[in-house]
Amino acid sequence: MYNDKNKQKIVDIIKNAARKHSLWVLAYGTGCGAIEVPATMTSRYDAERLGVRGAATPRQADVLLITGYLTVKTLKRVIRVYEQMQDPKYVIGFGSCTINGGMYFDSYNTINQLDLYLPVDVYISGCMPRPEAVLEGFGKLQELIGKGVANGARQYKDNLDYYRENQKKVIKNWDFQDYNW
Ligand code: SF4
Repeated sequence: MYNDKNKQKIVDIIKNAARKHSLWVLAYGTGCGAIEVPATMTSRYDAERLGVRGAATPRQADVLLITGYLTVKTLKRVIRVYEQMQDPKYVIGFGSCTINGGMYFDSYNTINQLDLYLPVDVYISGCMPRPEAVLEGFGKLQELIGKGVANGARQYKDNLDYYRENQKKVIKNWDFQDYNW
């Protein structure tokens, strides 16, 4: 039966299909994994043929790509960048360092689990992940978007207190305004 609920469902399917094939990526080159991004985006692996392309600023970006270890100093900037991005937005954690700290797991000045501070939609494992793995990670994100279950941004809003508590635990010089949704 055709009703408002079904109509909304059809609109969502169309929107998600469009979104998943148009991912503008802000690659935040935090760690050594950043060196694989140019290879992924340029002619040999050509991520753009899959709808994945670079974005110049947070306000134009759909995907924040964190390419490796993240110092506390950089985390502060990354949070700021993420909060400047508009919905819908997604985060990819790239490399072992974002998952469990990798070889920097006991460093005094890096975080070792990105999803304590930002909502990660997809992790790409490896140290460093090859372009094939990066493309697979984008493919996974596209699959989640297509199914309408890439809900990291919603999770961030709904659990902002949790994220803020974790963020402020490590960032001692917290000097920007709390995000105003
Ligand atoms: S996972 Fe490996 S390649 Fe990536 S930032 Fe960490 S040490 Fe560097």
